[in-house]
Amino acid sequence: MKFAVIGAGFYGLHIATRLRALGLEIKVYEKAADILSFASGNNQFRLHLGFHYARNFRTRQQSRDGFYRFLERYGKLTEPIQENYYLVPQGDSLIDFPTYKLIMMSSGLDFIEKEKPEEIKYPCGSVLTAERVLMIDRARKHFYTQLP
Ligand SMILES: Cc1cc2nc3c(=O)[nH]c(=O)nc-3n(C[C@H](O)[C@H](O)[C@H](O)COP(=O)(O)OP(=O)(O)OC[C@H]3O[C@@H](n4cnc5c(N)ncnc54)[C@H](O)[C@@H]3O)c2cc1C
Repeated sequence: MKFAVIGAGFYGLHIATRLRALGLEIKVYEKAADILSFASGNNQFRLHLGFHYARNFRTRQQSRDGFYRFLERYGKLTEPIQENYYLVPQGDSLIDFPTYKLIMMSSGLDFIEKEKPEEIKYPCGSVLTAERVLMIDRARKHFYTQLP
């Protein structure tokens, strides 16, 4: 039996490689000129650990769990971000810095509280985190190899 996957974004390519690994015959259809061109090729490429989502526990859990699952399969396509700060402005934020830290700590997210980078001029609380970044060209090469 033959299967078609419509769309060579990250999801389509992941599904296609997984089905192919099961021995199924897969063809991927992509309307753009290259793979990983739309949302998957036009974002910040950050592997979220959950620091972005102070307002939702479940999203933080999903981010953290997804981060480690992604690394298991695609770790070689990623790099650490040398200085990855999350900043909470003083007085001009829906959340204050002590509350932000408490939320992250209670979700089991590790961070280092650190002075904000020099170029940030406004007063804010600042944490350094160990998120990673997807190297998109490496990802393209990977999927070209996996799905010739
Ligand atoms: C501004 C922005 C920033 C983001 N930042 C991050 C981030 O830092 N970290 C993170 O993890 N996520 C981030 N995301 C989310 C992430 O980009 C998406 O979750 C992910 O890329 C979705 O992948 P996808 O495969 O579903 O979609 P897409 O990458 O959009 O792939 C869909 C593909 O289907 C193709 N297609 C559609 N219709 C057809 C058709 N009829 N025939 C053939 N092909 C078709 C399209 O051309 C496209 O290539 C961000 C999203 C945005 C918009």
